[in-house]
Amino acid sequence: MEKTAHCVILPYPIQGHINPMIQFSKRLAHKGIAVTFAVTEDVPVNEFSADISVETISDGYHGKRADAALPEYLLIFRKAGTESLSKLIQKLREDGRPVDCVVYDAFLPWGLSVAKDLGLFGAVFFTQSCCVNIIYYNIFKGLLKVPVLEKEISVAGLPALEVSDLPSFVLDQEAHPGSLKLLLSQFEGVEDCEFVFVNSVYELEEEATDWLRKFMFVKTIGPTIPSMYVDKRLAHDTNYGLSLFKPIDTCMEWLQQQSPKSVIYISFGSMAKLKKQQMEELATTLKLTGKPFLWVVRSSEESKLPENFIEEASGKGLIVSWCPQLEVLAHDAIGCFVTHCGWNSTLEALSLGVPMVGVPWWSDQATNAKFVMDVWKIGVRAFPNKEGIVGHEELSRCVNYVMEGERAEEMRENALKWKELTKGAVDEGGSSDRNIQEFVSTMMGGDRPQK
Ligand code: UDP
Repeated sequence: MEKTAHCVILPYPIQGHINPMIQFSKRLAHKGIAVTFAVTEDVPVNEFSADISVETISDGYHGKRADAALPEYLLIFRKAGTESLSKLIQKLREDGRPVDCVVYDAFLPWGLSVAKDLGLFGAVFFTQSCCVNIIYYNIFKGLLKVPVLEKEISVAGLPALEVSDLPSFVLDQEAHPGSLKLLLSQFEGVEDCEFVFVNSVYELEEEATDWLRKFMFVKTIGPTIPSMYVDKRLAHDTNYGLSLFKPIDTCMEWLQQQSPKSVIYISFGSMAKLKKQQMEELATTLKLTGKPFLWVVRSSEESKLPENFIEEASGKGLIVSWCPQLEVLAHDAIGCFVTHCGWNSTLEALSLGVPMVGVPWWSDQATNAKFVMDVWKIGVRAFPNKEGIVGHEELSRCVNYVMEGERAEEMRENALKWKELTKGAVDEGGSSDRNIQEFVSTMMGGDRPQK
């Protein structure tokens, strides 16, 4: 098909945002859109898809952000990014590749001003669920006041929430200065965006999506996981393709030797920094359950492992600094996923039908864990004690409950249901596929979208 429209995709440079935006780019390219993926200098650029070109823009730090605090980083990035993204779009135009739309990460709301100043379509991309969007949007609009003083919160579009289900940045603004401001800034100008993409699946959160739709052009387009794991329509799309960490190959060989549904897979994603005591509680849990395990401990976290644990674990379990998570979750040997409930990990587990034990660390993870347990019923949340540590008794109870408790079978059945449903969403004619197609048609000169 001849390419008649061109989108620039602008991700925030962290793994959990790069992954979904790459996959969305691949879907657009598959439907005939020319795509330029614009990353900052600190992202290792490689060719992750023959159909997508990659360009570099500046965050003002020349690849050396080092320890710049978040508020300062965002301010400098906004200025340098606005300038260099505009220049890039002008250069592309001069090269005979004019841009029609900027699809910008909601963490970089200035992407909309760049698009509008150049007379282009602006489309925002949210990497968190519709439910989480509702919470932040209500705060942004002043409808939900922070600090939240009530014990129970009732917000339209959401089930009743307890205060502990809210995103951590709403509850504790001092621990991570600037984070709540960043999350609220996602809604700057959102009502002016022609498209508001959310990496979620309509069938997972119908009520929340319908509520948001009253205020913005919400289009769910997930799950943004490589096609091979869902609809298989994109040939060769087997992995995300741009990793900030190096996966350890031995995992798959090791998993191959384990019995079906026997392994506990533990990972807290790319950013979590657990307390040493929390790592010890996890290690004790693994010893107590006696089950085989695969534990991702990033190099920067390794010193927090109990002494000799790696040696003691060998044979029983495998500890790696990073793994190909999708391949792992898709493996038959995995019995449960002990996860921080980052939104990508949660969607991946839902899409691959893996029951979860949620141990949220920060951000929207507690809210995701609430939905895993009470709405999608594909796992449980492990709760911390007064010191904020999830103890080994609680962890063992949850792991055993998910793997062999009285509701284990029911959770596995639910897991299969969500697996089918998420696959259906991106397959031809599914809810996400239709939304992507609608965007593509508009880009190709069709009618503007309806809410
Ligand atoms: N991931 C991976 N290997 C690992 C751990 C994580 O490939 O060993 C991927 C995972 O599949 C997901 C992303 O890293 O796509 C983590 O995103 P998430 O939103 O779950 O958490 P974050 O890192 O943003 O806290």
